[in-house]
Amino acid sequence: MSQQTTDLDTLNVQFENTYPPDILRWAAQRYGEGLAVVTSFQPTGIVTLHMLSEVAPDTTILTLDTGLLFPETHNLIDEVEARLGLKLIRVRPELSVEQQTEAYGAALWSHQPDLCCGMRKTAPLDKALGGYSAWVTGLRRDQSSGRKTTPIVSWDAKRGNVKISPLATWTEEMVWMYIHAHDLPYNTLHDQNYPTIGCYPCTKAVAPGEQDKRAGRWAGHQKTECGIHIATLDRG
Ligand code: SF4
Repeated sequence: MSQQTTDLDTLNVQFENTYPPDILRWAAQRYGEGLAVVTSFQPTGIVTLHMLSEVAPDTTILTLDTGLLFPETHNLIDEVEARLGLKLIRVRPELSVEQQTEAYGAALWSHQPDLCCGMRKTAPLDKALGGYSAWVTGLRRDQSSGRKTTPIVSWDAKRGNVKISPLATWTEEMVWMYIHAHDLPYNTLHDQNYPTIGCYPCTKAVAPGEQDKRAGRWAGHQKTECGIHIATLDRG
Protein backbone atom coordinates (compact mmCIF):
# COMPACT_ATOMS: atom_id res chain seq x y z
CA MET A 1 0.00 0.00 0.00
CA SER A 2 1.49 3.37 -1.01
CA GLN A 3 2.02 6.24 1.40
CA GLN A 4 -0.48 8.27 -0.61
CA THR A 5 -3.19 5.61 -0.20
CA THR A 6 -2.50 5.45 3.54
CA ASP A 7 -2.76 9.22 3.81
CA LEU A 8 -6.06 9.25 1.93
CA ASP A 9 -7.43 6.43 4.10
CA THR A 10 -6.54 8.40 7.21
CA LEU A 11 -8.16 11.54 5.82
CA ASN A 12 -11.32 9.63 4.91
CA VAL A 13 -11.70 8.41 8.48
CA GLN A 14 -11.06 11.91 9.79
CA PHE A 15 -13.43 13.62 7.31
CA GLU A 16 -16.34 11.21 7.73
CA ASN A 17 -17.70 13.43 10.53
CA THR A 18 -16.24 16.75 9.40
CA TYR A 19 -18.49 19.63 8.37
CA PRO A 20 -17.99 20.18 4.60
CA PRO A 21 -16.74 23.81 4.83
CA ASP A 22 -13.90 22.56 7.03
CA ILE A 23 -13.00 20.00 4.35
CA LEU A 24 -13.06 22.77 1.73
CA ARG A 25 -10.88 24.98 3.94
CA TRP A 26 -8.41 22.11 4.36
CA ALA A 27 -8.36 21.53 0.58
CA ALA A 28 -7.78 25.21 -0.20
CA GLN A 29 -4.95 25.43 2.33
CA ARG A 30 -3.32 22.20 1.18
CA TYR A 31 -3.57 22.70 -2.58
CA GLY A 32 -3.82 26.49 -2.97
CA GLU A 33 -4.05 27.49 -6.61
CA GLY A 34 -3.76 23.82 -7.50
CA LEU A 35 -7.36 23.30 -6.37
CA ALA A 36 -10.39 23.58 -8.67
CA VAL A 37 -14.06 22.96 -8.07
CA VAL A 38 -15.97 21.25 -10.88
CA THR A 39 -19.70 21.85 -10.85
CA SER A 40 -22.70 21.53 -13.12
CA PHE A 41 -24.75 23.71 -10.74
CA GLN A 42 -26.80 20.89 -9.30
CA PRO A 43 -28.10 21.53 -5.74
CA THR A 44 -25.00 20.00 -4.13
CA GLY A 45 -22.82 22.20 -6.31
CA ILE A 46 -24.70 25.32 -5.24
CA VAL A 47 -24.17 24.40 -1.58
CA THR A 48 -20.48 23.71 -2.23
CA LEU A 49 -20.03 27.05 -3.98
CA HIS A 50 -21.75 28.93 -1.15
CA MET A 51 -19.59 27.22 1.48
CA LEU A 52 -16.49 27.87 -0.59
CA SER A 53 -17.37 31.56 -0.98
CA GLU A 54 -17.05 31.84 2.80
CA VAL A 55 -13.85 29.86 3.34
CA ALA A 56 -11.84 30.14 0.09
CA PRO A 57 -13.53 32.56 -2.34
CA ASP A 58 -10.54 32.77 -4.71
CA THR A 59 -10.75 29.11 -5.68
CA THR A 60 -11.14 28.43 -9.40
CA ILE A 61 -14.50 27.01 -10.46
CA LEU A 62 -14.83 24.99 -13.66
CA THR A 63 -18.15 24.27 -15.33
CA LEU A 64 -18.76 22.42 -18.57
CA ASP A 65 -20.75 24.32 -21.15
CA THR A 66 -21.54 21.52 -23.58
CA GLY A 67 -23.53 23.80 -25.87
CA LEU A 68 -26.57 21.69 -24.98
CA LEU A 69 -27.58 23.07 -21.60
CA PHE A 70 -31.10 24.18 -20.75
CA PRO A 71 -31.72 27.97 -20.80
CA GLU A 72 -32.70 27.61 -17.13
CA THR A 73 -29.21 26.27 -16.38
CA HIS A 74 -27.51 29.20 -18.11
CA ASN A 75 -29.67 31.62 -16.13
CA LEU A 76 -28.75 29.86 -12.88
CA ILE A 77 -25.02 29.90 -13.66
CA ASP A 78 -25.13 33.63 -14.40
CA GLU A 79 -27.08 34.32 -11.20
CA VAL A 80 -24.83 32.28 -8.91
CA GLU A 81 -21.70 33.65 -10.55
CA ALA A 82 -22.84 37.22 -9.86
CA ARG A 83 -24.17 36.59 -6.35
CA LEU A 84 -21.16 34.67 -5.04
CA GLY A 85 -18.52 36.50 -7.11
CA LEU A 86 -17.21 33.24 -8.54
CA LYS A 87 -13.88 32.88 -10.29
CA LEU A 88 -15.68 30.84 -12.93
CA ILE A 89 -14.24 29.28 -16.09
CA ARG A 90 -16.67 27.89 -18.67
CA VAL A 91 -15.04 24.85 -20.25
CA ARG A 92 -16.20 24.17 -23.80
CA PRO A 93 -15.73 21.22 -26.20
CA GLU A 94 -13.47 21.56 -29.24
CA LEU A 95 -16.38 21.09 -31.63
CA SER A 96 -19.50 23.21 -31.61
CA VAL A 97 -22.76 21.27 -31.80
CA GLU A 98 -22.99 22.21 -35.48
CA GLN A 99 -19.44 20.96 -36.17
CA GLN A 100 -20.18 17.73 -34.32
CA THR A 101 -23.30 17.24 -36.45
CA GLU A 102 -21.27 17.77 -39.62
CA ALA A 103 -18.60 15.30 -38.53
CA TYR A 104 -20.72 12.60 -36.84
CA GLY A 105 -24.27 13.13 -38.03
CA ALA A 106 -27.32 14.56 -36.32
CA ALA A 107 -28.21 13.86 -32.67
CA LEU A 108 -25.11 11.81 -31.85
CA TRP A 109 -26.38 11.63 -28.26
CA SER A 110 -29.35 9.51 -29.32
CA HIS A 111 -27.30 6.64 -30.78
CA GLN A 112 -23.76 7.05 -29.37
CA PRO A 113 -24.10 8.90 -26.06
CA ASP A 114 -20.72 7.66 -24.77
CA LEU A 115 -18.96 9.17 -27.77
CA CYS A 116 -20.93 12.40 -27.39
CA CYS A 117 -20.17 12.65 -23.65
CA GLY A 118 -16.55 11.83 -24.34
CA MET A 119 -16.17 14.73 -26.76
CA ARG A 120 -18.42 17.26 -25.02
CA LYS A 121 -17.71 16.49 -21.36
CA THR A 122 -14.93 14.09 -20.44
CA ALA A 123 -12.18 15.19 -22.85
CA PRO A 124 -12.60 18.94 -22.25
CA LEU A 125 -12.71 18.43 -18.49
CA ASP A 126 -9.66 16.14 -18.50
CA LYS A 127 -7.79 18.81 -20.42
CA ALA A 128 -8.95 21.60 -18.09
CA LEU A 129 -8.03 19.60 -14.98
CA GLY A 130 -4.56 18.85 -16.29
CA GLY A 131 -3.01 21.74 -14.40
CA TYR A 132 -4.64 21.04 -11.03
CA SER A 133 -3.42 18.90 -8.13
CA ALA A 134 -6.89 18.36 -6.69
CA TRP A 135 -10.51 18.86 -7.67
CA VAL A 136 -13.77 19.10 -5.77
CA THR A 137 -16.96 17.38 -6.93
CA GLY A 138 -20.58 17.39 -5.78
CA LEU A 139 -20.93 13.61 -5.57
CA ARG A 140 -23.15 12.26 -2.77
CA ARG A 141 -23.61 8.66 -1.69
CA ASP A 142 -27.40 8.86 -1.77
CA GLN A 143 -27.58 9.98 -5.42
CA SER A 144 -27.59 6.50 -6.98
CA SER A 145 -26.59 2.92 -6.31
CA GLY A 146 -23.37 3.52 -8.25
CA ARG A 147 -22.38 6.36 -5.91
CA LYS A 148 -23.19 4.78 -2.53
CA THR A 149 -19.54 4.09 -1.62
CA THR A 150 -18.14 7.43 -2.77
CA PRO A 151 -15.09 8.29 -0.64
CA ILE A 152 -14.63 11.85 0.55
CA VAL A 153 -11.02 11.89 -0.66
CA SER A 154 -9.62 9.58 -3.33
CA TRP A 155 -6.81 9.32 -5.84
CA ASP A 156 -8.04 9.99 -9.37
CA ALA A 157 -5.70 7.72 -11.29
CA LYS A 158 -7.06 8.81 -14.66
CA ARG A 159 -6.20 12.46 -14.08
CA GLY A 160 -3.28 12.00 -11.69
CA ASN A 161 -4.71 14.18 -8.96
CA VAL A 162 -6.79 14.04 -5.78
CA LYS A 163 -10.57 14.03 -5.99
CA ILE A 164 -12.55 15.48 -3.09
CA SER A 165 -16.29 15.07 -2.48
CA PRO A 166 -16.92 17.16 0.65
CA LEU A 167 -20.69 16.49 0.69
CA ALA A 168 -20.47 12.74 0.06
CA THR A 169 -22.14 12.00 3.41
CA TRP A 170 -24.93 14.54 3.01
CA THR A 171 -28.45 13.57 2.00
CA GLU A 172 -30.65 15.27 -0.55
CA GLU A 173 -32.79 16.57 2.32
CA MET A 174 -29.77 18.20 3.99
CA VAL A 175 -28.77 19.87 0.73
CA TRP A 176 -32.23 21.37 0.19
CA MET A 177 -32.43 22.50 3.83
CA TYR A 178 -29.13 24.35 3.33
CA ILE A 179 -30.32 25.93 0.07
CA HIS A 180 -33.54 27.20 1.63
CA ALA A 181 -31.86 28.29 4.88
CA HIS A 182 -29.45 30.48 2.89
CA ASP A 183 -32.03 31.50 0.30
CA LEU A 184 -29.79 30.27 -2.50
CA PRO A 185 -30.96 30.11 -6.13
CA TYR A 186 -31.46 26.73 -7.76
CA ASN A 187 -32.44 25.42 -11.17
CA THR A 188 -36.17 26.05 -11.63
CA LEU A 189 -36.46 22.73 -13.51
CA HIS A 190 -36.19 20.99 -10.13
CA ASP A 191 -39.71 22.24 -9.44
CA GLN A 192 -40.88 20.35 -12.58
CA ASN A 193 -39.68 16.88 -11.46
CA TYR A 194 -36.16 17.06 -12.82
CA PRO A 195 -34.05 15.76 -9.87
CA THR A 196 -30.75 16.15 -11.76
CA ILE A 197 -30.18 18.24 -14.83
CA GLY A 198 -27.64 17.82 -17.62
CA CYS A 199 -27.84 18.41 -21.38
CA TYR A 200 -31.40 18.89 -22.62
CA PRO A 201 -31.37 15.98 -25.13
CA CYS A 202 -30.45 13.51 -22.35
CA THR A 203 -32.45 14.81 -19.38
CA LYS A 204 -36.09 13.99 -18.71
CA ALA A 205 -38.46 14.65 -15.85
CA VAL A 206 -39.08 11.60 -13.61
CA ALA A 207 -42.29 10.24 -12.17
CA PRO A 208 -43.21 11.71 -8.78
CA GLY A 209 -41.71 9.51 -6.03
CA GLU A 210 -39.00 7.98 -8.28
CA GLN A 211 -36.30 6.64 -5.95
CA ASP A 212 -33.34 6.70 -8.35
CA LYS A 213 -32.66 10.40 -8.63
CA ARG A 214 -30.66 9.86 -11.82
CA ALA A 215 -33.44 7.92 -13.57
CA GLY A 216 -34.13 10.86 -15.88
CA ARG A 217 -30.60 10.89 -17.29
CA TRP A 218 -30.00 9.06 -20.59
CA ALA A 219 -33.44 7.43 -20.33
CA GLY A 220 -33.68 4.48 -22.72
CA HIS A 221 -29.93 3.79 -22.55
CA GLN A 222 -27.93 1.58 -20.15
CA LYS A 223 -25.76 4.62 -19.47
CA THR A 224 -25.97 6.12 -15.96
CA GLU A 225 -22.82 8.27 -15.79
CA CYS A 226 -21.30 10.66 -18.32
CA GLY A 227 -17.84 9.19 -17.72
CA ILE A 228 -16.35 12.03 -15.68
CA HIS A 229 -16.60 10.06 -12.44
CA ILE A 230 -16.15 6.52 -13.72
CA ALA A 231 -12.42 6.21 -12.92
CA THR A 232 -12.89 6.75 -9.20
CA LEU A 233 -16.38 5.31 -8.78
CA ASP A 234 -15.08 1.98 -10.04
CA ARG A 235 -12.83 1.85 -6.99
CA GLY A 236 -15.84 1.87 -4.69
S1 SF4 B 1 -25.32 14.35 -21.81
FE1 SF4 B 1 -26.11 13.79 -23.85
S2 SF4 B 1 -25.92 15.65 -25.14
FE2 SF4 B 1 -24.66 15.95 -23.28
S3 SF4 B 1 -22.63 15.34 -23.87
FE3 SF4 B 1 -23.60 13.50 -22.97
S4 SF4 B 1 -24.60 12.38 -24.67
FE4 SF4 B 1 -24.04 14.47 -25.40
